[in-house]
Amino acid sequence: AKRSGAGISLYDSTRHADSSGHLALVEELRTAMSTGQLVLHHQPQLDIVTGATVGVEALVRWQHPVRGLLYPGDFLPLAEVHGLMGTLTEVVLAQAVTQAAARRAEGLELPVSVNLSASNLLDVALPARVADLLVRHDLPPALLVLEVTESVLLTDPERSLAVVGALADLGATVSIDDYGTGYSSLAYLRDLPVAELKLDRSFTADLLTDARTEAIVASTIELAHRLGLRVVAEGVEDEGTLTHLRSLDCDVSQGYLHARPLPAEELGCWLAAHAPAAVVASPV
Ligand code: C2E
Ligand code: MG
Ligand code: MG
Ligand code: MG
Repeated sequence: AKRSGAGISLYDSTRHADSSGHLALVEELRTAMSTGQLVLHHQPQLDIVTGATVGVEALVRWQHPVRGLLYPGDFLPLAEVHGLMGTLTEVVLAQAVTQAAARRAEGLELPVSVNLSASNLLDVALPARVADLLVRHDLPPALLVLEVTESVLLTDPERSLAVVGALADLGATVSIDDYGTGYSSLAYLRDLPVAELKLDRSFTADLLTDARTEAIVASTIELAHRLGLRVVAEGVEDEGTLTHLRSLDCDVSQGYLHARPLPAEELGCWLAAHAPAAVVASPV
């Protein structure tokens, strides 16, 4: 084959365009993180019995100047592959904690959940940075929930267990996200200092139509309660599913039925209209 530049770029034009587009996006992501293009949407979590708002989950979006609003699926894999996940998590945590502290200052004491990625749990310096962030914003650690997935524990179980343990020691709540989709769920429930389990959306979705799913959900909730964990159902989209989850003694419901992840302005309105659970006593 001819190795002339022109020949190669013609032959490979698609692939070449793809990979340079890909690299350009990585560079754009670096810039995005330092220029405030990453924003958080928050999805409310409701007490399944009272309907009170008991928390919000922070979900990252990229307000891209040209491409518009991008979702985690569009850029998180890229961040992970190119070693940007540490910085991304710093940015997300800083925003989540800042906003939780601002709500608290206005009298609303609402825990915020932040998703951690696999590489975050290999970072032994993460707990100290989280502690520092909480102190700087004067946010009680109990108002921070850190969501980890079972798969993140596979690469280096010993180290990630130590990191999770240190995060729990700070007083933050550790939650297992997408529960039921990973491996060795029972060993992690036994060994990790977790306080919350989030039932994966795939189980919620099939609850009413699949008897085996229903059996798994019912026994998982019972198991979680026996271990002292609270159970959050993800992806609740209809009243029937909500009612059934309530009858199975699930604790918290999160999903489009109640609210989609909301941008900051909409979250404020939503919270004002949906009688939040806890209000801080006015300072003396
Ligand atoms: P996740 O943590 O399991 O978050 C729940 C996802 O389900 C969110 O998608 C949310 O918008 C979507 N969802 C919520 N309710 C419903 C529903 O009723 N029906 C359906 N079909 N979907 C629902 P999103 O925001 O696209 O995030 C996808 C995933 O990206 C998250 O899954 C999480 O694993 C990851 N992610 C999001 N933000 C961050 C972040 O700041 N850091 C890290 N490391 N990961 C994040
Ligand atoms: Mg999550
Ligand atoms: Mg997840
Ligand atoms: Mg999830």
